[in-house]
Amino acid sequence: MKKKQFKAESKRLLEMMINSIYSHREIFLRELISNSSDAIDKIYYKALTDETISFNQENYYIKVTANKEDRTLTIADTGIGMTKEELENNLGIIAKSGSLAFKNENEIKDGHDIIGQFGVGFYSAFMVADVVTVTSKALGADEAYKWQSSGTEGYTIDSVDKDKVGTVITLKIKENTEDESYDEFLEEYRLQSIIKKYSNFIRYPIKMDVSSRKPKEGTEDEYEETKEEQVVNSMVPIWRKNKKELTTEDYENFYREKHYGFDKPVKHIHLTVDGAVRYNAILYIPEKVPFDFYTKDFEKGLELYSNGVLIMDKCSDLLPDYFSFVKGMVDSEDLSLNISREILQHDKQLKLIAKNIKNKIASQLQSLLRDERDKYVEFFNSFGRQLKYGIYSDFGANKESLQELVMFYSSTEKKLVTLEEYVSRMPEDQKYIYYASGESNERIEKLPQIELVSDKGYEILYFTDEIDEFAIKMLMTYKEKEFKSVSSGDLGIDSDDTKENNDAEQTENKELLEYMKNILTGQVKDVKISKRLKSHPVCLSTEGELTIEMEKILKSMPNNQNIQAEKVLEINANHEVFKSLKTAFESDKEKLDLYTKLLYSQALLIEGLPINDPLEFTNDICKIMK
Ligand code: ADP
Repeated sequence: MKKKQFKAESKRLLEMMINSIYSHREIFLRELISNSSDAIDKIYYKALTDETISFNQENYYIKVTANKEDRTLTIADTGIGMTKEELENNLGIIAKSGSLAFKNENEIKDGHDIIGQFGVGFYSAFMVADVVTVTSKALGADEAYKWQSSGTEGYTIDSVDKDKVGTVITLKIKENTEDESYDEFLEEYRLQSIIKKYSNFIRYPIKMDVSSRKPKEGTEDEYEETKEEQVVNSMVPIWRKNKKELTTEDYENFYREKHYGFDKPVKHIHLTVDGAVRYNAILYIPEKVPFDFYTKDFEKGLELYSNGVLIMDKCSDLLPDYFSFVKGMVDSEDLSLNISREILQHDKQLKLIAKNIKNKIASQLQSLLRDERDKYVEFFNSFGRQLKYGIYSDFGANKESLQELVMFYSSTEKKLVTLEEYVSRMPEDQKYIYYASGESNERIEKLPQIELVSDKGYEILYFTDEIDEFAIKMLMTYKEKEFKSVSSGDLGIDSDDTKENNDAEQTENKELLEYMKNILTGQVKDVKISKRLKSHPVCLSTEGELTIEMEKILKSMPNNQNIQAEKVLEINANHEVFKSLKTAFESDKEKLDLYTKLLYSQALLIEGLPINDPLEFTNDICKIMK
């Protein structure tokens, strides 16, 4: 038995491998099981062309056994095995992949289930083991060999007795240290869960002897511990099954099994794509908002598999933020993985998949809206805000498809409606899409500003989400119709008569209005006779782009600049109060000061804005009571 040395470079590489390539130690099991699966696949491929080899599915499996007393973990397979040379070449030379060579030699392009390609995965065993022993008998060979290594110091190869073709890898699990515990890799339950997490969809059975307590035969209350061999993995991934054979229940079960959520998804999307990039995906639109959805702990993303092996729990690049509620998985054989198979090398394929998925989700939501309105409304109540954010974000890059998916509460329909529905109902003389902003539908309903538009018989959309006005500013128009706030200066509905009348009133009361404007210097841009007020004495309107709702939102943000909407105090000339203003203007300026301040405060309150000095306000009210 002669000890062979790793080459110097290999030594360094091995150390690096063991200590820094993988972010989770548990990955070693994924790597070893993937190797075993590859080894079985190789017999399968050989059998396709070699008649002397038969491939009977039942004879092929992987078995994982933990022995706590010996501190050993064994991964055995009935795969193709390795000859002495192969042990030497594949396990003695780091970064040499026998599997990659096999694929090239056998020109396997399709059916590409073989996972290995980098020739490093095996060494991850040293993250958890002091000594790794590989006993292997190659298909068609008479002799079996044992390869053994305790890491960077090199390895030995000896002859050994082994009947069956295949490979047995035995890991001597490290002793616990003060900071690190390795015991978990000898725990049945933990091993099962690692296998389920990463290797659930390996095509061959992964078996384990699982303990259970059963009543002892012939006794009533005595139990005995028994071990029973069980298959831990589910093998055939649902996403590789034929869509026609799957029921909604199958998809819902998968949703629950995967812990995507506790609710029932409103829709599932099963994609089998065989284009520029090949992939399978199962996506879900959840029904309910996950409890952490609007917290910073929430992470969006889809599970990412490469050839049925889990690569990433939450691949965030696969989903735009506005679809962050989507759950599910993607499996692709076309990904360029880096050597730890934890991250992706180039993201070209991934980008393609992401783009594809994004379009699919949008079109599926579209059909949900069209065909199952109630379900869509339910979905929209949960996640609609995300879609509106989507319109606003990325400088409106996605607004085209998203504008068809957003809904707003309608003043006339008394329910959520789409923009398309709104526009299709617009009377010919209506120029704009009208909206009113406020905290809730109930509050908006009471806004004085909506009276005129409502009386005209026009529909008004209620904006109750902070993002609404920002999203609409990004859209600018829908089907060439501009959006118009009911609080904006010019509503575009006045007849020539109304305009003339208003101009006349404005001129007639010029001095009074000027006087009031002076009192409110710095607070309003102007004081005007209103064209829109009917029963209320005052309201605020705005000039320019910024509305009062937007001002509120911007002010609530951290590091806000002192952003002000250009406010106009509008007064109803037909209201009793106006007469009092005129009288006060002529005979009692002090009273006019008081009235002006009070009216302005009232207008602020109606808008849900804070009044400047509540104490002064209450004192002023007392003054008029005297
Ligand atoms: P990779 O799997 O990326 O090729 P590894 O370092 O995990 O890299 O394995 C190196 C090579 O060792 C594999 O390509 C394969 O040829 C061989 N090998 C590893 N494990 C087994 C096994 N259980 N049975 C047969 N061959 C194996």
